[in-house]
Amino acid sequence: MKKSEEIKSELSKAYPVRAELHAHTKPVSGCSDIPPRDAVRTFHNDGYDAMAITNHFSINKRWTNKEDYLEAYKHDFLEALDEGEKLGMTIYLGAELRFSKQSDNDYLLFGITLDDLDKIYDYLDKDLETFVRECKTETMVLLQAHPFRDDMILMDTDLLDGVEAFNMHPNHNSRVAVAYYYAKEHGKIATIGSDYHHVGHDNLAATRFSTLPKDSLELAEELRKNDFIYEISGNLMV
Ligand SMILES: [Zn+2]
Ligand SMILES: [Zn+2]
Repeated sequence: MKKSEEIKSELSKAYPVRAELHAHTKPVSGCSDIPPRDAVRTFHNDGYDAMAITNHFSINKRWTNKEDYLEAYKHDFLEALDEGEKLGMTIYLGAELRFSKQSDNDYLLFGITLDDLDKIYDYLDKDLETFVRECKTETMVLLQAHPFRDDMILMDTDLLDGVEAFNMHPNHNSRVAVAYYYAKEHGKIATIGSDYHHVGHDNLAATRFSTLPKDSLELAEELRKNDFIYEISGNLMV
């Protein structure tokens, strides 16, 4: 039988790419205290190759009109992208959606471009079903974020590509083992993410891919293949 160290070393070689799939920046996520460039540097210094910026995207009282909000939203991403280019980090556009007609559920969205935000915004005051029916495209991957946290309502898995099974936000019990089992039971994608918001968040969680997706569209394709492994605080979960 192989020793666990050998298995880990083989897996490490087979899945060399480290990507963060859930991170928030300020000012566009009011709950984050990390400017985009600092977020990118933090993950770069921790050995990451890529990260998704998944700022909250919801009807937001801090911006009185859609245009200003979209501009601010894009600005945080473009700052991260620019810093990523300097450091050789790949940055993916993501979003964490909340639909105001429906509970406090959050949904991670990948496989989008900046141009998609305008249309997606118009569904934020509707509900998940309407968004999926009228706005979601083939390129997008939609996951219910931390579905087993308190006050979340589990949604019909037919509306979702998967769930974020491992959410490593230090201030919540996301019941990750149940969430992982739930995703697998339903034959859905099960992702991992740090839900990074603050300085000092030290249990960072990486998705390890075999190849590096170049942008959000390729990231969504790679997630659909459902061939990746998890790493928490530098430890492969095998
Ligand atoms: Zn937040
Ligand atoms: Zn989040």
